[in-house]
Amino acid sequence: MSENHIFNEEHQAIRKTIREFVLKELTPHADQWEEAEEFPSSVFSRLGELGFLGLHYPEEVGGQGGDYLCGVILAEEMMQCLSGGVALGVGVQTDMVCPLLHKVGSESIKERFLRPALEGKKIGCLGITEPDAGSDVASIRTTARRDGDEYVINGQKMFITNGVRADFAIVVSREPGSSGAKGITIFVVEKDSPGYSVSRKLDKVGMLSSDTAELSFMDCRVPADNMLGEEGQGFYHIMWELQPERLFGAVSAIAGAQINLDMTLKYVSERSQFGRPIGKFQTIRHRLAELATEIEAARQLNYYVAGLINAGEFPAKEISMAKLFSSRTACKVADEAVQFYGGYGYMMEYPVQRFWRDSRLTRIGGGTDEIMLEIISRQLVQ
Ligand SMILES: Cc1cc2nc3c(=O)[nH]c(=O)nc-3n(C[C@H](O)[C@H](O)[C@H](O)COP(=O)(O)OP(=O)(O)OC[C@H]3O[C@@H](n4cnc5c(N)ncnc54)[C@H](O)[C@@H]3O)c2cc1C
Repeated sequence: MSENHIFNEEHQAIRKTIREFVLKELTPHADQWEEAEEFPSSVFSRLGELGFLGLHYPEEVGGQGGDYLCGVILAEEMMQCLSGGVALGVGVQTDMVCPLLHKVGSESIKERFLRPALEGKKIGCLGITEPDAGSDVASIRTTARRDGDEYVINGQKMFITNGVRADFAIVVSREPGSSGAKGITIFVVEKDSPGYSVSRKLDKVGMLSSDTAELSFMDCRVPADNMLGEEGQGFYHIMWELQPERLFGAVSAIAGAQINLDMTLKYVSERSQFGRPIGKFQTIRHRLAELATEIEAARQLNYYVAGLINAGEFPAKEISMAKLFSSRTACKVADEAVQFYGGYGYMMEYPVQRFWRDSRLTRIGGGTDEIMLEIISRQLVQ
């Protein structure tokens, strides 16, 4: 993988440590976890024990005190395990759940949820999407009605990563009777709260080792203390949260694409037809060269945006560009790689099929291509 000036020697050392861990403790189990359609929760505790979940969080909340780029390195290196599902499950914890808890959580929330999440002692999930509200976040219907010192939550959440095993869910809800972006408030709901249940574990095409749930809240009572951020400001909190989540998706997608390309380069030099390795055919060499160029361009865009985030900026247009371009590039690489493997690419025994299935999610989750284009175009065309 080519480097960039944004990483210093300390970053390189962290990268080496994470890679060694992933290759030794995760990669050998990836096939088995994919088959079982679940990776063990002990992955979270082990990552927490090693300090990897809190790399880019301050020490006072239980993190390691590193900068944002340490998180980018974790996202990239997790892909070395060859299971997008494992990388996704861990990424939801580090780049969807924890950023919100850290940015808008009260001291009490930070102690009760953020610290154990960074230590890998509690697993979290984030529930934004509903059966009838996906791209249009402001149309969510889950309600939270105040009742004394508690709120009573009713509604459903759909496609929630880590939702089956999560110890707590961050739930985006609205005041009854409110509509649009107004009246949206977020709560942290513990799994044993009465009225909280996992209604279904969903069957997916890819990211098999991650668990994806439909969650149900029926008169689920949460203490007012569990409100995350400001009352009525939930929509804006979520719009902020989506920014680091999208860059995480972009970075993971390109790290996976690079691994896939490297494997494919090896394959085309080993597979012979018509008396020579298929990688000697110009039509194949040139397409590989194009893919390598697109991966490099996407990675450098991601690093540029990561540098901005590291400096405290969250530029929605550039983040959306990075997510759009990286997701599309990863899918293109995955599709071409299957083609270069021929019939073997369609067989379960090679990881190339998993990249093909896993990478498809990145064009949908965390905001679809079409929504990225909408965000970008809004800043271009008045
Ligand atoms: C495996 C998986 C894991 C997920 N994990 C989580 C999670 O942990 N938490 C969570 O909250 N959500 C999660 N999601 C949900 C994900 O974020 C949504 O699927 C995504 O935002 C799209 O919403 P939707 O599926 O309802 O599609 P829809 O919004 O119904 O979109 C359908 C199609 O219409 C297009 N479309 C919609 N609006 C427009 C528009 N204005 N202009 C042009 N085209 C438009 C979309 O781009 C898409 O092509 C996950 C999804 C999957 C599949």
